[in-house]
Amino acid sequence: MTFLETDIFAKIVAGDIPCDKVFENERILAFRDIAPKAKHHILIIPKENYITAQEVTEENKALFGELFLVAKEIATDIHLTGYKLAMNVGETGGQIVPHVHLHLLSPDFKSEL
Ligand code: AMP
Repeated sequence: MTFLETDIFAKIVAGDIPCDKVFENERILAFRDIAPKAKHHILIIPKENYITAQEVTEENKALFGELFLVAKEIATDIHLTGYKLAMNVGETGGQIVPHVHLHLLSPDFKSEL
């Protein structure tokens, strides 16, 4: 698949598309992947519209880092002692949804993302 033209995750943040939410604060939203590749497959996103992780800067690095903090908190909440974190960056990096998202997968993940 190729990069989508529409930022569907911005629509989720806006409440225009429903999601199975697992975490939310002022800056971050996390929800279950619609096509899970593991028992637990959760996407952790900044609410702000960054397209890819190539947009990380000195100014916003705390926000990008918070994605990992939230991943740890969710993993702890659902009692995962080990898990996989992955982020596809750009179309040639396997990214489809044009909004930064960190994948959190339980160890039973089935395939590469
Ligand atoms: P990526 O290839 O890293 O861009 O992954 C995008 C992920 O978003 C895929 O695992 C999709 O299954 C997932 N996805 C697409 N649309 C939705 C949606 N509406 N709600 C939850 N997950 C979605």
